[in-house]
Amino acid sequence: MNESAIANHQAPFVFPWFEPVWAHWQQLLSSARFPHAVLLSAPPGSGRRAMASQLAKVRLCKSQTDNACGHCHSCQLFDAGNHPDLHWLAPEKTGKQIGIDAIRKVQRQAIETSQLGGARFIVIERVESLGEAAANALLKSLEEPPAGCYFVLLTDSLDSLLATIISRCSVWKAPQPDGESAKYWIEQALKCSVPDHAVGLFRGAPLAARDFVASGGLEHHHAVINGFTTYVKTHVGLFDTLAVLTSHYPASLDWLSYFLLDVLKWRQGAQHAIVHSYHHQQVADVANLMGTQQTHMALRQLHQLQRQLQTHTGLNTELVLSQWLLSIGE
Ligand SMILES: [Zn+2]
Repeated sequence: MNESAIANHQAPFVFPWFEPVWAHWQQLLSSARFPHAVLLSAPPGSGRRAMASQLAKVRLCKSQTDNACGHCHSCQLFDAGNHPDLHWLAPEKTGKQIGIDAIRKVQRQAIETSQLGGARFIVIERVESLGEAAANALLKSLEEPPAGCYFVLLTDSLDSLLATIISRCSVWKAPQPDGESAKYWIEQALKCSVPDHAVGLFRGAPLAARDFVASGGLEHHHAVINGFTTYVKTHVGLFDTLAVLTSHYPASLDWLSYFLLDVLKWRQGAQHAIVHSYHHQQVADVANLMGTQQTHMALRQLHQLQRQLQTHTGLNTELVLSQWLLSIGE
């Protein structure tokens, strides 16, 4: 998504699960204590982009209050996706690094004069994707922030960031919406009922759950769970199962990861805690056939191969997955 599309994508309201964070941000906006760098930790699909966008709009608005006026020159340019003092940086695609050249460009934007005579605002998505040199370069800008320039950094997880970057920012962690209110929000957005597992598979990311349901994900997920269960039960149909897993890769592996966790919970008598309550029969069938140790092993190997496939893009997904399935069938 490009910069203008993101700006246009701005939500007209604050997502309910972000309200506590937004209330704090508004206090900062209306005081003279607005930090030069905000770091927001929230999963993709949580609405974090819209929140960063909203914050930028309010900070850039000529009214300089805790809300965007909506009609000043700055707000108009912002709504048109053309604000010259808003710069947005994200990896070219998921899994790709943000390199030093992109950060050098951001550093130039950080020191240039504001086009509208106000603040400059820089949003960096997936800041965990910064390469080492890029992260060190960004650190310099955070250590000596140019006057009137504000940064918002978005990350999936604080765990993978340099401690020195974290220490230079005002750090916020998005509260995780509870299952019931997330489900209510998704159902309101889609105007249809959604099963519990659609919410459970995307805990903390209701927008991702909404998009999953809207794009036919429920059927794909169902095919993956059924294909895997049939394979475990019969040990035949390796290639059919493989075809289903690869056609819905990489999501299929996340779904199987949740499914195998449910199998472990089932084996430990925690049936009430499973995400796949709609597929409880499949969970029970696999739990009857795979021992606790074997399930642990399968889950560990699954996480390993997910990391391998992400890091080494040249790997043959089908081959790696078939080896994993064969090891389960043994
Ligand atoms: Zn305004």
